[in-house]
Amino acid sequence: MSKGAFNPFAMAQAQFDKVADFLELDAGTRDFLRNPVREYQFNIPVHMDDGTVKVFRGFRVQHNDARGPCKGGIRFHPQETIDTVRALSMWMTWKCAVVDIPLGGGKGGVICDPHNLSMAEQQQICRGWVRQLAKNVGPVQDVPAPDVMTSAQHMLWMLDEYETIHGGKYPGLITGKPVGMGGSLGRTEATGYGVIYTVREALKQLGIKPEDTTASVQGFGNVAQYAIRLYEELGGKVICVSCWDQEDQTSYSFKKESGVDLDALLKITDRFGGINKDKAREMGCEVLPGEAWIEQDVDILIPAALENQISGENVQSINRRVKLIAEGANGPTTPEADKVLEERGVFVIPDFLANAGGVTCSYFEQVQCNMNYYWEKNEVLDKLDTKMTSAFLAVSELARKRKIFMRDAAYVISVSRVAQACKDRGWV
Ligand code: NAD
Repeated sequence: MSKGAFNPFAMAQAQFDKVADFLELDAGTRDFLRNPVREYQFNIPVHMDDGTVKVFRGFRVQHNDARGPCKGGIRFHPQETIDTVRALSMWMTWKCAVVDIPLGGGKGGVICDPHNLSMAEQQQICRGWVRQLAKNVGPVQDVPAPDVMTSAQHMLWMLDEYETIHGGKYPGLITGKPVGMGGSLGRTEATGYGVIYTVREALKQLGIKPEDTTASVQGFGNVAQYAIRLYEELGGKVICVSCWDQEDQTSYSFKKESGVDLDALLKITDRFGGINKDKAREMGCEVLPGEAWIEQDVDILIPAALENQISGENVQSINRRVKLIAEGANGPTTPEADKVLEERGVFVIPDFLANAGGVTCSYFEQVQCNMNYYWEKNEVLDKLDTKMTSAFLAVSELARKRKIFMRDAAYVISVSRVAQACKDRGWV
């Protein structure tokens, strides 16, 4: 795949333009919504363990806050770019709108690789990120959260820095905090479980029983692990997973025709979602090239790693048996690949609907922080299921009625809601 030429923001804008045409949005609204309202770029100096000072580049992009404070994760990644953050912030706006929670869209990042940083160095990056943005984020402005390679620990360091600067307790600053420190039960499971709540509903509509299906998953991190857990509880069988191998700087797929053993694989997986390939072989997994996950003879594909993974270059290698693609990752499918999937009649649950469980549970975390009263896990997951299911049903009903692709239907609902909020406020 030629990842070099891929620009996620151009892709997010192309997706938006298609729906703006469909909705016949006026030029002002279109111009306003296809770009973020605010962006911050800054440097974070860090005293490294070896005595040197290294400077890391940080970002925060606030795409739109017409429906409420911006909301979105902070990603630590060596290939992070401002355009990736812009795209992700725009997708956050649509994601909050499609599940109808009172939040806008934002996203942040730092160009760094936590694989090569000590915890002390990562703590300085977290505190430095907040020092640069202490006046621009907050419970009523913009509420960050974890994303790829950031965790509850990173969120707590960020919260602590913010509270030190502002002199008070502000648990509503950030979500994804540790349970017992303002975090919500169920947040760890929320995104992966949310993906499978939508898969369950899609299978009902396709008239297929989960126990008669198999799946292949790209990624083996937070989203993938919990998606696999719930899918298997529904009776499905995952025969292939893939992940990034830090040592070899490439990805591998791990296949077991009789079904991968999630608990056994978790024991040989590092905290970044990387599977030890020698130990996986000992367990009877075939170790295949990274791309192999997409070519499997399965009913369901779940991309749950990064953007730009199903493109014009590899979409044809998707097996004809695949009926359903549930996008756990953000932006995994390019518009070129979308066309092929639409022509083939593959049921696609688009990213900002399928993976909205994380932000929905983050919203529940904010609600619990505001009340200073925390719900039981089952209560959180029941509320999550209700929200995800009703969002899925609204999108699939529109797709059926208007005879449009699921992604377009989700966009129509989200963009209409956000455009209306901007209009009602008198902005456009
Ligand atoms: P994570 O860091 O926990 O896991 C990422 C996984 O992807 C790891 O297993 C890693 O090895 C794998 N990976 C990375 N590059 C790969 C490649 N080229 N090929 C195959 N595997 C690769 O991240 P996560 O939190 O699970 O997030 C995964 C995706 O889901 C991202 O797109 C993220 O933005 C999106 N997402 C996450 C959440 C959340 O709550 N965690 C919410 C919404 C969306």
